[in-house]
Amino acid sequence: MKRDFRLRDNHALKLAIESKEPLVILYLIEPIMLADPHMDLRHWRFIYQSLQDLNEQLEEFGAIISVLFGNATDVFDEISLKYEIKNLFSHEEIGLRHTHERDIALAKWCSKNQLNWTQLSYGAVYRPLSNRHHWPKLWNERILAEPFSANLSEGEFLNNIENTLGEKFQFAIPTLWQSPSIAMQLGGEKRAWFTLKHFFKERGKDYFGNIGDPSASRKTCSRLSPYLAWGNISLKQIYQYSLANSGRKGWSRSITAFQSRLHWHCHFIQKFETEADMEFRPVNKAYLPFPYCKDNLQESRLTAWKEGKTGVPIVDACMKAVIHTGYLNFRMRAMVVSFLCHHLNVDWRSGVTFLAAQFLDFEPGIHYPQFQMQAGVTGINALRIYNPVKQSIDKDPDGHFIKKWLPELASLPSPLVHQPWLMTAMEHAMYEFDCERDYYLPIVNVEAAAREARERMYLFREHPSVKREAKRILSIHTT
Ligand SMILES: Cc1cc2nc3c(=O)[nH]c(=O)nc-3n(C[C@H](O)[C@H](O)[C@H](O)COP(=O)(O)OP(=O)(O)OC[C@H]3O[C@@H](n4cnc5c(N)ncnc54)[C@H](O)[C@@H]3O)c2cc1C
Repeated sequence: MKRDFRLRDNHALKLAIESKEPLVILYLIEPIMLADPHMDLRHWRFIYQSLQDLNEQLEEFGAIISVLFGNATDVFDEISLKYEIKNLFSHEEIGLRHTHERDIALAKWCSKNQLNWTQLSYGAVYRPLSNRHHWPKLWNERILAEPFSANLSEGEFLNNIENTLGEKFQFAIPTLWQSPSIAMQLGGEKRAWFTLKHFFKERGKDYFGNIGDPSASRKTCSRLSPYLAWGNISLKQIYQYSLANSGRKGWSRSITAFQSRLHWHCHFIQKFETEADMEFRPVNKAYLPFPYCKDNLQESRLTAWKEGKTGVPIVDACMKAVIHTGYLNFRMRAMVVSFLCHHLNVDWRSGVTFLAAQFLDFEPGIHYPQFQMQAGVTGINALRIYNPVKQSIDKDPDGHFIKKWLPELASLPSPLVHQPWLMTAMEHAMYEFDCERDYYLPIVNVEAAAREARERMYLFREHPSVKREAKRILSIHTT
């Protein structure tokens, strides 16, 4: 198992059972993942919960997942000393460079040891794909296909192989992983299905209307992203369920908007699959020398952004919310990135890993392309510099979201809560609130910073090298 913690629509599991050989269901805790700064305790908890959920379901079939520790090739070396391995089945992982390098090393190991490794495709992502000419057709082919159904009662399972291997390959799950956070979604295939059904029962009806609202969207958006990211449910299952629910009275805009986002899911991951170097550089390479602010200023601005201390309430509230709950709706994700890269003029590479570690649904193939798009370094997308004050007034008019995450602003009435730095001396006295004393003054002048960012971005976009790269990107990544 990799990022595919589910028993249903699991092609790898189906083929493994059909191979009619004794079968080990294996999950590896790898040092590269433990050391990965994109991974946070919240992710390990989600993984642990997902494993628990699968083990509960597997019990009636006499199976249990073996959890081993070590580098993939070392672990397989050890297993092959005790067992004759005939086949390895897994899904393709559209991951970061270190997991890609692990896969290359493991593929070499398999070929050296004459073992067949079948890697099944991930959703509607194609490997390789040199252009998007037939993308809509390819997407439909995969997503509308019958889900894979593994007949678990036919499996002959080999359990607890960790006990037969050397001690260094055994892993005691830390107690912290085992204690769930009440503020975060819980992992597991059963939870994923509950969330999907709950969405279509009632709460998804207002999906479209509330999509930009940082408070209401927590309930009316599907909240399926962590389950998709960790494979508790497949995109195919969700899309087909949504088709079965199409045509309901009063749901039409919401279902259409939801389904288009399911298309985007694979569209972005396909981009990353095709050009995974964007983990380290802007997809438009001409943005490499972009004039971000000087290092010491970058550092202090970045720290204020990370800690929710920029003095711009909606930005700070979002950062506190995501740190605490692992979730933000799309608009607020886009806005905090826009604020970091445009208003604060901080290099996107400085913030991208931090935010990944906060998102419970961290999905490299969506996160990196989305982050770069909002940072304006693709050269092909319309430039979006969100005005955080306007977003705050439009999307959180009563300031409920801000006040929940910044209780120090709770006494302020709604017009003032969006821009407390504009309060007059009389208002200070009236509300017994002083922006500098009780909260923070904004670290930049929001209007002036946006103006400067716009000038910087538009000027840079005119470079012939940016345009050349934009052409290249369009020819590879768009239909
Ligand atoms: C800077 C930035 C970083 C992001 N990082 C991630 C990430 O690491 N993981 C992640 O799953 N999403 C990411 N997104 C996309 C989006 O914000 C989330 O998918 C969405 O908010 C998850 O909530 P939901 O499941 O309730 O979504 P819903 O609105 O209910 O949508 C259903 C599903 O469609 C997909 N989806 C929705 N919006 C998008 C989008 N804009 N692009 C691609 N797929 C989308 C997701 O899989 C989502 O679960 C990011 C967006 C931005 C701006």
